[in-house]
Amino acid sequence: MARVQLKNLEKVYGGFKAVHGIDLDVAEGEFMVLVGPSGCAKSTTLRMIAGLEDISGGEIRIGDRVVNELPPGKRSIAMVFQNYALYPHMKVRGNLAFGLRLAGKSKAEIAVATEEVARILEIEPLLDRLPKQLSGGQAQRVALGRALIKKPSVFLFDEPLSNLDAKLRASMRVRITDLHRRLKADGLASTVVYVTHDQTEAMTMGDRICVMQAGRIMQVATPKELYSRPANLFVAGFIGSPEMNLLEGQLDGDGFHGEGQTLPIGPSLSARMSARPQDAVLGFRPQHLKIVSGDGVPAFDTRLTNVEFMGHEVYLHVSLGGRQLVAVVGADEFEATSRADDRIRMRPDAEWMYVFDRGSGQNVSLGANA
Ligand code: ADP
Ligand code: MG
Repeated sequence: MARVQLKNLEKVYGGFKAVHGIDLDVAEGEFMVLVGPSGCAKSTTLRMIAGLEDISGGEIRIGDRVVNELPPGKRSIAMVFQNYALYPHMKVRGNLAFGLRLAGKSKAEIAVATEEVARILEIEPLLDRLPKQLSGGQAQRVALGRALIKKPSVFLFDEPLSNLDAKLRASMRVRITDLHRRLKADGLASTVVYVTHDQTEAMTMGDRICVMQAGRIMQVATPKELYSRPANLFVAGFIGSPEMNLLEGQLDGDGFHGEGQTLPIGPSLSARMSARPQDAVLGFRPQHLKIVSGDGVPAFDTRLTNVEFMGHEVYLHVSLGGRQLVAVVGADEFEATSRADDRIRMRPDAEWMYVFDRGSGQNVSLGANA
């Protein structure tokens, strides 16, 4: 087990700065996910931790040691990649044992370790198969086993599930987090840094999530915090599905003005606001945009443009002036809504409305409950 610390870590490729002095502290035993769009430097950061990439500035610590100058083999890490090529001519058993054979372990030791890892990953029946006789998920588990057998202090994953189909991805997510919990309980390799571009993977797997954009860290927080208190527009738009509605407009004493309509800012949102930027972005998640029946309550006047039935939920696509908004409502609630033509009044839940400063992108509505 080991803590991983990045201090002012930088990477420059030629003249291009890929990583801009990031600081990150991964606690011992923590499952940390690095998430962000393609090209934001997730892999570069992970490869620097692994020692596969030189660092251009700053410091990396694993456990008590500064590992800046240590080769990968001396860092007590194991890495699993998206393209986890197994050795095609070796059986599963041989693939698992390969690292230990290289390290000169005895036959007896290797046999014990192989059985143990196979048992943990439930791949015992596959030990005598060749890689071409495995399904994608089975091959991925063997790749995990190959990393696990080294008993590393830190596990590094780079998009390990991206090549699998959606169903398998969902079951592998649970397998990996289960495995992490069990290894932790056994005092084995327990600290994880897991890279993905997929916000669902990040939200379901991470103890904490580090959201990155263009070589910078946007926010580090638990899934719950990221969802309920995004620090800025980038995180707000990246985390959550469907995406948060973000409406540009102006704030004044009367409330928020956007797309020719005005929504008063009630006391609950007011109390949370640390600033009142004139140029603002109002944010609200589709799950928090509600149908309003009757004309008494302030609401946006929208037009229904599309309905997607998802089962017990319905995604409503509505237009507000030139903007499209999405609402997720219960199918029953939608059925019960009486509508004349396609006009539909909608209002974001005040407890779940956010105001962002359009200039800085910062969330200024975290105040009172932050
Ligand atoms: P991610 O894994 O988040 O998709 P990467 O870490 O692979 O992003 O890349 C981050 C940035 O660094 C990208 O702009 C990419 O083009 C650049 N980059 C990555 N590797 C190299 C390299 N070997 N040489 C030059 N630029 C690179
Ligand atoms: Mg990558």
